[in-house]
Amino acid sequence: MTFPAGIDIDQIRAVALGCTRCRLAEGRTQVVWADGNLESDLLFIGEAPGFHEDKQGKPFVGAAGQLLDKLLAEIGLDRTKSAIVNVIKCRPPGNRDPLPDELETCKPYLDAQLSHMRPTVIVTLGNFATRYILEEQIGITKARGRRYDRRGAVVIPTFHPAAALRGGRFGGMTPIDAIRQDLQLVRHVLDERSRAAAAATAPGHTETAEAGSSEQLGLF
Ligand code: SF4
Repeated sequence: MTFPAGIDIDQIRAVALGCTRCRLAEGRTQVVWADGNLESDLLFIGEAPGFHEDKQGKPFVGAAGQLLDKLLAEIGLDRTKSAIVNVIKCRPPGNRDPLPDELETCKPYLDAQLSHMRPTVIVTLGNFATRYILEEQIGITKARGRRYDRRGAVVIPTFHPAAALRGGRFGGMTPIDAIRQDLQLVRHVLDERSRAAAAATAPGHTETAEAGSSEQLGLF
């Protein structure tokens, strides 16, 4: 599916809300389009709606969503300063993994959201979103803890908050500690971008801003 030139994101959202292009339309309650601010620079991408998301029509509203909100608050963010979407817009039955043909069929909607937002920072939550955005068959334990350049954005993979709720240890640390560490990197990149933008509009302060940025980069 390709959208006609000139179609805006609200029109694409309207198409998505009535979409029956794959088998997931049969079991869903409603299409889960997005939450937060699609005009912001920061995009969180999860996998697929779960039970509560399907009922309420919003991504990340169950326990995992509450944890995500808490972790965002720890770095001074909330849903008004970021957008939250899923790779796939309808709940797979029994919360099974999305199938390859479903991912492919739903792809134009996420691509439209990315094209509209042109986010400068993308946080991928869990394996599916990370593989989708990095276009690599890489596991989240290996992928996280680093930043990547993809689609004109800094991509920072981390665990899905649901993994933090399950507990355990991966790569020597708990998922929630890993998410906190990765979100500190998000905070750092956003601050770095803010300083660069301020320096660009205040030529007299460029040298100071660049010096501060170099110093901060040493932390990571
Ligand atoms: S999962 Fe995507 S492609 Fe499938 S019905 Fe829902 S919106 Fe349409």
